[in-house]
This record gives sequence, structure tokens and C-alpha cells, in this order.
Amino acid sequence: MSQVTAIHTDQLYIGGRWVAPHSGDRLEVFSPATGELIGSVPSADAADVDAAVTAAREAFDSGEWRNTPPAERAAVLRRAAELINERGGQIGALISAEMGATPADVATLQQLPGTGVLAGYADAADTYPWEEKRTGIFGETLVVREPVGVVGAITAWNVPLFLLCNKFGPALAAGCSVVLKPAPETPLNANLLAELFTEAGVPEGVISVVPGGVETGRALVDHPGVDKITFTGSTAAGRAIAARCGETLKRCTLELGGKSAAIVLDDVDIAAAAPMLVFSGMLNAGQACVAQTRVLVPRSRHDEIVQAMVDVAATFTPGLPSDPETKIGPLITSAQHDKVTDYIERGKADGATAVLEVAGPRVGTEQWVGPTIFTGVTNDMTIAREEIFGPVVSVIAYDDVDEAIAIANDSDYGLAGSVWTADIARGVDIAKQIRTGTMGINWYAIDPASPFGGYKGSGIGRENGREGLESYLEHKSILMPMGYSS
Ligand code: NAD
Repeated sequence: MSQVTAIHTDQLYIGGRWVAPHSGDRLEVFSPATGELIGSVPSADAADVDAAVTAAREAFDSGEWRNTPPAERAAVLRRAAELINERGGQIGALISAEMGATPADVATLQQLPGTGVLAGYADAADTYPWEEKRTGIFGETLVVREPVGVVGAITAWNVPLFLLCNKFGPALAAGCSVVLKPAPETPLNANLLAELFTEAGVPEGVISVVPGGVETGRALVDHPGVDKITFTGSTAAGRAIAARCGETLKRCTLELGGKSAAIVLDDVDIAAAAPMLVFSGMLNAGQACVAQTRVLVPRSRHDEIVQAMVDVAATFTPGLPSDPETKIGPLITSAQHDKVTDYIERGKADGATAVLEVAGPRVGTEQWVGPTIFTGVTNDMTIAREEIFGPVVSVIAYDDVDEAIAIANDSDYGLAGSVWTADIARGVDIAKQIRTGTMGINWYAIDPASPFGGYKGSGIGRENGREGLESYLEHKSILMPMGYSS
């Protein structure tokens, strides 16, 4: 263990206070790099979830937070962002230890966008029309927006700081209470961050953390005191959660998997594009929902583009997160490592060619997959259809742009994507034709002020900006007496 002293917590953070857990079950967290035990927390069971939801309900019903003016709630989010930035080193080291990304990548891919979305939700709360007068056929109506209530938030392990901010941010901006169930692989940072939000000014009762696995998540989804579930994770789990929410008519936002296409046009400046293009496919060791893992290239420039990508990807050195030379950290678990290597073998068996396949270092857990690029991929191959969640990019050749658009759209997913071209207007025109939630022109990023989410199997609903805030609100219409005019 390089930078973090093992954290062993005996209590659960429920309603803004540390309390004894119901059972003696514990979640142990092992370093994906070294295999060392880096900490453990109590595993919350259904009784703990009930205590957390009860605290959240009482806090919500008391009205303290939901009746706090939106501008004051926004100020608390901004304060939380400041605290995260002040303690970025400590938080980054902990998350690096938990999930294997380098501290530099945690700063770039989690802290920066995480604090960015907190600022974005604060801005959205400041400018949102919380009350609005409308005139209809009966005269005047007052439309008011109210917090949806108690939110159950369930998150994945791949970018835990960013995901926590994207759950706490909109829920708190809206005036809701939140019970967070972090991924069992990364529960330690959730406790630290929840305390930080309390320090920023969130009142007692409003925030709880219930670390645990699928059973804990199910208890939260099924709890009758929860009004909305917000989920980030796999499409398979999202489907199961949506079905349970359907039974109890809970509101539900789902941020799920992806298999995004980067469409490279024939006019691309490939020397300029290659570093961003490869990064977009392999960021976070490929453990990114928005990874651009299908790279569609014009057949006329195929070899040149592949060579440029291989040259860049070969510099994505796999190694220990503590090594400043490391570009690709270990995969989260040995199971994930086996899954990714199985996909690589499947790609070869299906006839694709691995033009780059870098072995991981033989250290620690040996849970690395080095940068891997396949050519000769067709869009019906398993490696082009399924989310691999490792640094594996498939190059697919196309003959004309209509074919490229058809290939990009021929996917069960629709989360992200990009177009790479010298002609920005042409890029935007193509971006409009892709059935996916976000597109980048000559790069890819998630903008805190703009809606983010999936088409098709990538999810339901949107996060970020006004749309993200809105999904934590109910809309109420109060009809004024006929003839009334304010
Ligand atoms: P996962 O679906 O296995 O688990 C995610 C979370 O859901 C965990 O906390 C898990 O304990 C919980 N969970 C799983 N099944 C559940 C159930 N039936 N009921 C309640 N809770 C349940 O996903 P993962 O392996 O942790 O994360 C990787 C996935 O997350 C990838 O598919 C990735 O694309 C996706 N992801 C999506 C986004 C996005 O914004 N769209 C962001 C990050 C990750």
C-alpha cells in the first residue's frame, strides 16, 4: 500500500451520524494493483437500509432542507466542491488505492468533472424557474417544482467520485434526501465524501451511505419509503432495477453501459486526432461507459489511421498506479481481467487481427490488460457489439459516410460517440444522425451544464444541467380561481 493507511470503519454513516451496523458482516476492499487489504466497512443489510431510509424520510418531511432556498442549497454544493478540491490529494490517493487508476487520472477523470457537475447543478438551481405562472383556458395556474422526495442512489466502481457527485449534486440541489449505495469494490471514499458534504452544510438526516452488494441495492430499490431510484451501472442490472421500480411505480433514472462509435472522416488530420482518439477508447484502462471502442475509419485511409493509433496506443504503458509513467492501471478485479482477456480471444477466434496487444506487467495481482487494437473487425462480431470494459479498441472500415452512420447506429447501446474531421459543420451534421446521448467533434467530454445520458440500452433519463436537476423534481399545477389574476 503506497499512500493510504488502511481504513477500517466500525460504523455506518446514516442520517449524517456514525451509528452501529445491524449485523457483523463486513465488506473488505483489496487493492486491484497489489492485492493488499486496504480497508473494510460494515456491510449494510436490509435493517440498515431501513434505518437510512427512515432518517431520510424524516429529514425530508421535516422540510428543513427542501425549504432551504435553492440559492442556499447551491452554495452548499459549491462549498462541497471547494472541500473536494482542497482535499483532492487525500481523496485521489484513496480512490486510486480502491480502484486502481493513477492519482493523475482520478484528478482528471473524476475530481475535475465531479466538482464540475456540482458547480453545474448549483448554477442550474440558481437559474431554475422553481415557480412559474401560466395562463390556460381557465385562467391563471401556478406551476411549482418540488423535490421528488427520498432518493436511493446506486453506483458503479469505475469513477466513484464523479458518480457520487452526479447523484448527490442534483438530489441535493432539488431539495431531496439521499441514501447512497456505493459499489462494493469502492465503499471507502463514499464514507469520506458523505462526511465532507455534511461539513459543507447538508443538514443531519439528509445523507446516508449503505455500503453493500446486490442484496443491499435490492433492499433500497424495494423500500417503500424511497420515491426515486437513480442508478449507474450495467445494462443488465439496470433492466432488473427498472422492473422493480415499475412494480412500485418509483421514478427511475438509469445510466448504463455503452459501445460508442468514433467516426473518423476522410479529411481528418490524423496526427492531431490520434492521441485524443486513442485516449477516448482507452481512458481509465477502458473502464469507462463512454469509451469510444468502435473506431470507424474510411477504407481509403485505413492503414495510415491504424498506424497512427498504434503508435499512440503503444505509449499507454500499463503499470502500478503509483508509477508516474503509468497510463493504464490494473483492471478492478481478476474476474474483470478474465472477462476482458476472454473478449480478446473471442475477437481473434472471430477473425479479427490484434495489430497491437501489449502484455500487462507481471507484478502484484497481474490484473492488467495492456492497450489492444483490433483491425478487420465487422460490426456483427462480439467485440463490436458487447461492452468489454478494458483497453480494447476495434477498428471497423467503411466505404462511405452513410455506411459509417449505419454502423454507428447498429448497436444495442447509444451513450456517447464522436466525429473526427476538418469540417466542423459536416461533423455536426453527422453527429445529429447518430442515435446516442452525447457526441463530440474532434474530442469527447461530458459537459456539466449539458444533458448526459443514453438512448436505447444505455439508459433512461438525463443527468447534468437543467435536465439533470429536473429529473429530481415533481411538477405541480395549482389552478387559481376562475377570473383570478395576480
Ligand atoms: P453493476 O451493474 O454490476 O453494479 C453497479 C451497482 O449496482 C453496484 O453498486 C451493484 O452492487 C449494484 N447492483 C447490481 N445489481 C443490482 C440489483 N439487481 N439491484 C440493486 N443494485 C444492484 O455495474 P459495475 O460492474 O459496477 O459497473 C460497470 C458498468 O457501469 C458498465 O456497464 C458501465 O458502462 C456502467 N457505467 C455507466 C455510466 C453512465 O453514466 N452511463 C457511468 C459509469 C459506469
